[in-house]
Amino acid sequence: MQENIIIAGHPAPAQVSTSWQQQLSQAIRDPDTLCQRLGLGAQWLPGAQAGHRLFDICVPDAYLTRIKPNDPNDPLLRQVLPIGDETLASPGYVTDPLEEADHRPIKGLIHKYANRVLLIASPACAINCRYCFRRHFPYSEHSPSRAQWQEALAYIRQDTSIHEAILSGGDPLAASDRQLAWLTEQLASIPHLKRLRIHTRLPVVIPDRVDDALLAWLSATRLQTVMVLHINHANEIDQTVVDACTRLKQKGVTLLNQSVLLKGVNDSVPTLAALSERLFEAGILPYYLHVFDPVQGAAHFDIPDAEAKALVTQLLEHLPGFLMPRLVREIPGKASKTPL
Ligand code: SF4
Repeated sequence: MQENIIIAGHPAPAQVSTSWQQQLSQAIRDPDTLCQRLGLGAQWLPGAQAGHRLFDICVPDAYLTRIKPNDPNDPLLRQVLPIGDETLASPGYVTDPLEEADHRPIKGLIHKYANRVLLIASPACAINCRYCFRRHFPYSEHSPSRAQWQEALAYIRQDTSIHEAILSGGDPLAASDRQLAWLTEQLASIPHLKRLRIHTRLPVVIPDRVDDALLAWLSATRLQTVMVLHINHANEIDQTVVDACTRLKQKGVTLLNQSVLLKGVNDSVPTLAALSERLFEAGILPYYLHVFDPVQGAAHFDIPDAEAKALVTQLLEHLPGFLMPRLVREIPGKASKTPL
């Protein structure tokens, strides 16, 4: 058996994994290993440990290999490395910035906007993003069993104004294909549903998630399928991600991307322009650029609105219109996202 040798400052050679589930189970889940694998000095460890106590680290190898070792400013690293600032209390930053607790009529279902509902299809993610607006979400209370899904399905069935079901999470693709195939089949049996939308970061984090089993249920449904990926920086899109996107497109899945504008990750015009260009090369259309939702523990990622607007105004000079994401904010209680 080959040993997994760790050389400080370089990722250990990836173990040969045969499935996305194995890759997920082998993800890095502790600060010491993360710092060691990326050659980060001892000064990063206390902050990483403090942040990890509030929101667990989770970084799979497939994502880690895209992070530059020995560089604490790497834009991918900043998305996954906890720092001491996460422990600071910042006025105005809260645990439920979108007030989703007010829009959960049924366990596992969020109904905020007309014509569409969101289903929490899995409480797990393949990566824990430090800026996540659901980092405090009570997932344990919203992981419905199959019997409880029947209640959510009945809710959709009785409201003929609902045309779209959005699978979200956590990351919905962290659920098993058996479960997702069943849920999709149930949704497709509701005549007034037209579209299935899947909000996921898994094809980016572990591209092997786009395997034959996933493609089988995706291509079998009568529902039009849209996958909204979550990519914040061009360096996240390597050839494995491009290949995964190609497999999805070959099955007729429409690919869009939403990003979050994050200080120290993508808050410059060249970085945002490179992201849009790279997305298009991978067959993905830029959709939304979200301003940061004020979640407790992640205030250090926030950018003032004036700066965000100035960035986007300058970005217009560098991109054709179809590669411009819409700068939006989600305001609790509003009937849609609010363009800035
Ligand atoms: S993958 Fe999405 S839901 Fe999961 S931690 Fe990252 S931002 Fe949050």
